[in-house]
Amino acid sequence: MAEVKVLIEGVHEEKGNKKLKASSTITLIKSDKNIIVDTGSFSDGQKIIDALAKDYLKPEDIDIVVLTHLHIDHTRNTNIFSNAVLYVKHSNSGAKWNISDTTVEAAEFDNLQIAKDVKTILTPGHFPFHISVVVNTQKGVVVIAGDAISKKDALGNIPRFQWNNEEYLRSQKKILDIADYIIPGHGKMFKVEK
Ligand SMILES: [Zn+2]
Ligand SMILES: [Zn+2]
Repeated sequence: MAEVKVLIEGVHEEKGNKKLKASSTITLIKSDKNIIVDTGSFSDGQKIIDALAKDYLKPEDIDIVVLTHLHIDHTRNTNIFSNAVLYVKHSNSGAKWNISDTTVEAAEFDNLQIAKDVKTILTPGHFPFHISVVVNTQKGVVVIAGDAISKKDALGNIPRFQWNNEEYLRSQKKILDIADYIIPGHGKMFKVEK
């Protein structure tokens, strides 16, 4: 079974139409590979290094970085993971490239097994190309949902500024159907009431 640990809990503060502060949740998965899902904002670099040190890990020990989608509060700091392969969906084709040499390789992300007990699924709607990560753990299935479910209170309704509302709701249902726990893109992990 894989282990999941939230390294940094994402925040999202807005006032009226102004975004005051946005930074994504940054999650560590330990399986046969060490995986980071989302890499936060500019100011999170040192925080990531400090949080990894508590698990006796360095950025160089990370094998895979998954970016759920390409909004800037989820995608900074990838440069510190010098040995990682980066999984990101940025167009109709998926791509997987090594951060150090930018070798691009096509990959399909729906039900893609990326490590033991860890797979990716496609969850578009918030953004045209959005990946969530499904992890089998001792306490059940944990889905790291990025902004497919950005906050617990986003469940059942549609936050502003979605790329496609119907796809957003469809992806939300897809996640709720399989998840025992959800780690949203911003805010606390929560249990899914079945
Ligand atoms: Zn987003
Ligand atoms: Zn976000």
